[in-house]
Amino acid sequence: MLGYNPFELSEAVRRVVTRSISGVEARRYYRFRGGRWYGGVATGDVVGCNLRCIFCWSWRYSHFTNKGTYYTPQLVFKNLIDIASSKGYKYVRLSGGEPTISWNHLLTLLDLFNQTGYAFILETNGLLIGKHKEYAKQLAKYDVVVRVSFKGTSTDEFSMLTGARPEFFEYQFKSLENLLECGMRPGEDFYPAVMLSFTTDENYAKFRKRLEEIHPVLAQAIDEEYVILYPHVVEILNRSRVKPKIAFSPNNIPQYMI
Ligand code: SF4
Repeated sequence: MLGYNPFELSEAVRRVVTRSISGVEARRYYRFRGGRWYGGVATGDVVGCNLRCIFCWSWRYSHFTNKGTYYTPQLVFKNLIDIASSKGYKYVRLSGGEPTISWNHLLTLLDLFNQTGYAFILETNGLLIGKHKEYAKQLAKYDVVVRVSFKGTSTDEFSMLTGARPEFFEYQFKSLENLLECGMRPGEDFYPAVMLSFTTDENYAKFRKRLEEIHPVLAQAIDEEYVILYPHVVEILNRSRVKPKIAFSPNNIPQYMI
């Protein structure tokens, strides 16, 4: 199977998950919540993604786009501030799907958060930032931390885990290059994360070397991700018949599959 083109999928998803309300780009969200990640963070979970990862914890909303409710950036801002201020959090973030699909919505939100004192974390697979250098240039103007989550450590892993055409893996690296070239600081303003549950030591070593070539700090700043075996994650993994080599139970106990 050749796989799909994530940029074509981005467009198809964007048409469903965005809508213009009084001239501003609204986006479908399925939840707003507080949480323990990053030491406490207010989170807006968006609907829709341009990848179809077989381990996605939010697959019911990232793979299926006609769910949730449209929110303007102003309403998202209010919801996140309400959660963060009531819980004493310093961080806010978008998660759940791919936030960069609704680019104008995201920029308006960053505008609203600028100068508020909250640190905005953008969790992304980086593909669209890799494709559009101007996206990186625009992000560099804001007080934002970009976490680029790699789907595996090689083109083959990327393709196996996402179902996308292997060559699109390159755009994940390109996003780091673009952010660097636009003046963002590696390890501070942006850093890589990577799904390691399905990899080999050899592939991971090559991956780290590739990051080092972009900037040595990036190889030191990797956020290592492993599958957490929540029942709904096990459900989607079973459909793919791909087994993680290492995963964690929901109470954080390592599970070695092979
Ligand atoms: S990129 Fe993230 S949100 Fe999108 S399908 Fe993969 S794991 Fe889910």
